[in-house]
Amino acid sequence: MLRWGRAFRPPSRGAPPGGIPGRSSRSPGGVPVPGDAPGRPLRTAAPLRSDFFRDLGQTLSHMGRTLKSQLPPLRGGQGGWTPPGIPLQRPPIPEEADVVVVGGGILGWATAFWLKALEGRQHGMRVLLVERDPTYSQASTVLSAGGIRQQFSLPENIQMSRFSAKFLRNINEHLGVPNDPPIDIQFQPSGYLFLASLDGAEKLEATVQLQRDEGVQVALLSPTQLKERFPWMDTQDVAVGSYGLEDEGWFDPWTLLSAFRRKAKSLGVLSCTGEVRGFVTSPRDGDTARIKYVHEDEPDPSDLSVDDEFFQDRVWPRLARRVPAFESLRRGRSWGGYYDFNTFDQNGVVGPHPKVENLFVVAGFSGHGLQHAPAAGRALGELLVKGGYKSLDLRRLGWGRLETGERLEEAVV
Ligand SMILES: Cc1cc2nc3c(=O)[nH]c(=O)nc-3n(C[C@H](O)[C@H](O)[C@H](O)COP(=O)(O)OP(=O)(O)OC[C@H]3O[C@@H](n4cnc5c(N)ncnc54)[C@H](O)[C@@H]3O)c2cc1C
Repeated sequence: MLRWGRAFRPPSRGAPPGGIPGRSSRSPGGVPVPGDAPGRPLRTAAPLRSDFFRDLGQTLSHMGRTLKSQLPPLRGGQGGWTPPGIPLQRPPIPEEADVVVVGGGILGWATAFWLKALEGRQHGMRVLLVERDPTYSQASTVLSAGGIRQQFSLPENIQMSRFSAKFLRNINEHLGVPNDPPIDIQFQPSGYLFLASLDGAEKLEATVQLQRDEGVQVALLSPTQLKERFPWMDTQDVAVGSYGLEDEGWFDPWTLLSAFRRKAKSLGVLSCTGEVRGFVTSPRDGDTARIKYVHEDEPDPSDLSVDDEFFQDRVWPRLARRVPAFESLRRGRSWGGYYDFNTFDQNGVVGPHPKVENLFVVAGFSGHGLQHAPAAGRALGELLVKGGYKSLDLRRLGWGRLETGERLEEAVV
């Protein structure tokens, strides 16, 4: 159990989150792109809410309005009517919790959700999530591109993608809340395309074989097939390409984050605004490990403005070389965000901290944390609630490799 230490800054009862800063939904509701992703595309499921619940909701809200109109005037002119002596407040923030989740991004809320979803009825585990910035102004989740793909080089990452795609396809079964509108993550099916020159062809083919062994629907395309499918692309130096046929595309990150949060709260997860600055806990053996990897090209982390020169000088020329039509592109809009990049081996770190008892980590997913959150959250939930991984074995993603220095490289980043 983690007890709140003195280093914890008391939470303020702040205003609820106010939407996504600088970002709006990019796509209309769930319209598949014709012909872009053959096979069985990932779609959002039919709404859970039945007519019964809708009618019940309408009846209750009508009764509420009638009751309100017959009650005495509001106290102080604000909020709802409160009977004297019965304060209608949020549940109090507990002094202690069984699990404190630090950070309410997608990985935090997904983990909080799974903890409650997996605990079973009898446990009543107290889960408290602490988020320092309820506006999410700099959170990776809301600034991400929202992509999901099945094409990875490590079995664990492929399995997490497979799990997440299934989860997202049935999102209303998992995260639907009775009486709330159905969730539509605005999934846009669109296969990822990876290209290899002669030098990398063998590696790409081996990776595709691994993906197929894991059940992924992926096509290997020769230069001729590529040219037929993508006539606008320059394929002169390409030996082979791999193209995702199913469960790849993008979706709205904010909708997924909100859905996890709403469902987790409905299951009893408590949350508050505050910054966790330390833990009162006992070290397992010796001091906390200090591990720091600094990338030479690391940009200034305090500056989230868009680097126009980088796009102009390095990205655009490459785009235009591959697709000549991009010569005349005009950038619509752009934004910057933290990529959560694990410079050690570009992979998530999941599991117990080796030195600090009761501290568990789920972070460092390097550009695939959004899509892997449903799976990674479940895995960590299983570890905490069931005492071990059950549906996904993420032991190789544990912290141990950072100590031993053995990289678990993800080639398809
Ligand atoms: C431009 C861009 C594109 C991306 N594209 C994709 C993509 O296509 N697909 C994909 O899967 N992933 C993508 N990612 C990566 C993905 O967004 C991240 O891996 C994922 O969102 C990480 O989630 P998180 O919950 O760990 O982090 P965050 O969303 O950053 O959440 C962490 C939260 O913790 C809070 N916090 C931090 N410290 C404390 C503290 N001490 N006390 C209290 N609260 C604290 C922060 O305020 C923050 O809200 C992209 C990222 C970027 C920036």
